[in-house]
Amino acid sequence: MTRMPRPSPHELGDEPPWLEDPQDWFWCSSCEHGLYWDERYHGELLRCVNQQCFAAEFAVPIWAAQKNRDDLFDEAANPEGWPRPVMESRPVPYLVPVTAGRPWWRATDGERLLRCQNQWWCQVCGLPLPSAAWVLVDAGGDVSSDAAMHERCLRLAAGTCPHLLDVGVGYRAVQVRLDDLLGDGRPLQLGDAWTPKRWTLRDASGGIG
Ligand SMILES: [Zn+2]
Ligand SMILES: [Zn+2]
Repeated sequence: MTRMPRPSPHELGDEPPWLEDPQDWFWCSSCEHGLYWDERYHGELLRCVNQQCFAAEFAVPIWAAQKNRDDLFDEAANPEGWPRPVMESRPVPYLVPVTAGRPWWRATDGERLLRCQNQWWCQVCGLPLPSAAWVLVDAGGDVSSDAAMHERCLRLAAGTCPHLLDVGVGYRAVQVRLDDLLGDGRPLQLGDAWTPKRWTLRDASGGIG
């Protein structure tokens, strides 16, 4: 495989080369071959070019691929903290993976989500939450993004995406404590999960609370 020369930051324009063809920058953690975009999930899932590798069959999400990647000059581009960094004119939530200043708006960093769930941290700013925090809940009681947030972070999310709280879209903001939530249908406990859980509102999912 021919390696392309590394781009310098100022050469990264609106359409950086790794967006079209990521395999010189994003490496398979198993076999060190390059990764390419899944045909149907461009910008979300990557597969290994090595057909013998399990990552050729089982796609790798962008946030995981980022951990084994050549330097794209974006270290700490989306850190925890407040205020949030602004990219493409919008504040970037802590759960959104970022490659060289380009947020993957539709993707969720699974490792960060797990940390937010296990430690009761905010999905928007990545900082610890007070015991009473906020979630966006749909009509069926499902918690949007499966994590809670600060009141200020809820306001930021609702201000950036005002349609979230439109009548008809179905999300409403609810103030909750840990006890008000279920993870995969069971009472939530901090720090015990290996994979992220689906969060639901306890009293909207069968009248337990
Ligand atoms: Zn591989
Ligand atoms: Zn927050």
